[in-house]
Amino acid sequence: MESGKLQIDRLRHRILAWYDGAARELPWRVGPASRRRGERPDPYRVWLSEVMLQQTTVATVVPRFQSFVARWPTVEALAAAPEAEVMAAWAGLGYYARARNLVRCARVVATEHGGRFPPTSTELRRLPGIGPYTAAAIAAIAFDEPAVVIDGNIERVTARLFAIAEPLPAGRGAIARAAAEIFPSDRPGDLAQALMDLAASICRPRRPRCSECPVRQDCRAAEAGLAEDLPRRRPRAPRETRRGTLYVARNARGAWLLERRPASGLLGGMPGWPGDDWDRGAQGDDPAGADGASGPPLPGPWRAAGTVRHVFTHFTAELDVHVAEVAGDAHPLRGAFVAAEAFDPAALPTLMKKAYARAVTALSDFESADGPP
Ligand code: SF4
Repeated sequence: MESGKLQIDRLRHRILAWYDGAARELPWRVGPASRRRGERPDPYRVWLSEVMLQQTTVATVVPRFQSFVARWPTVEALAAAPEAEVMAAWAGLGYYARARNLVRCARVVATEHGGRFPPTSTELRRLPGIGPYTAAAIAAIAFDEPAVVIDGNIERVTARLFAIAEPLPAGRGAIARAAAEIFPSDRPGDLAQALMDLAASICRPRRPRCSECPVRQDCRAAEAGLAEDLPRRRPRAPRETRRGTLYVARNARGAWLLERRPASGLLGGMPGWPGDDWDRGAQGDDPAGADGASGPPLPGPWRAAGTVRHVFTHFTAELDVHVAEVAGDAHPLRGAFVAAEAFDPAALPTLMKKAYARAVTALSDFESADGPP
């Protein structure tokens, strides 16, 4: 009878052998052949990719990563960048708090660590914006620390390999113990990346390709016919919908009325259209109208331009967009007019971009319907 250790050794060997032949080429990755020749990953690129991948897919991240490193090729270059520029370049990559932490982290590495990322997961965790998963991933991939790397994808593969049926989040303890059995390896970074690739291409959330899987013989879920059912999750409470209004005003000189959102809270520090208190959350989010202002920022006249919808992690926002064309010398109660030449819609967070698109269409429709002035 084979021991558990032998089974785990064989599983790890099969995963790494598959990775040696099938590793994805990614712009932040040093592939297994180059690793064997002694090439090492750049910790800056590993860190940047891990932060970008926290909320977005590889397909979305690859071009964004390439333009980021073309613009800021080193951690020192990113540390010297104005925060607003990094925030604008981050648009569409998820929580803006991550972009702020990205700049803060780059500055700490540049000033307190001589431009070099510290090489252990313990030290990495002390840097801004680096949690346990990211610290373990950077330490394993860039510095060969035998850290146990578990993100949602590796969690899924592990739950299936070991047929862990206890629903998440309670099942995470058993998954972590099982992952800790696989991970001790002389190639910890490659093992983490092998599991990431396996999760992306074969052990997919839906319709896992078990018949093509290199570890099919080692997989208890596949054997029990449970692959697609795992991991189980406790049913979620339905996502709340918050309704509200955004006010998009353009003055006679073509300038747009924008306000900067409070530094903390939803879309913190980003430019946006003034609104009511749609973002005043039950979970304690900082409201945009924390100063009490929540009505139209100008007398108007306001016209309805339709509704935009955006899904945040904890709620769905459904916001009516109201538009107004006002005099060139109109004075807003809050926010400030930004001249057309200085206004860059690409720097807006996604929800505000949707409202902008709605407003531009409506203003153009109103102009056609109203005829020449
Ligand atoms: Fe995933 Fe199927 Fe492979 Fe098991 S056999 S690891 S369920 S793809």
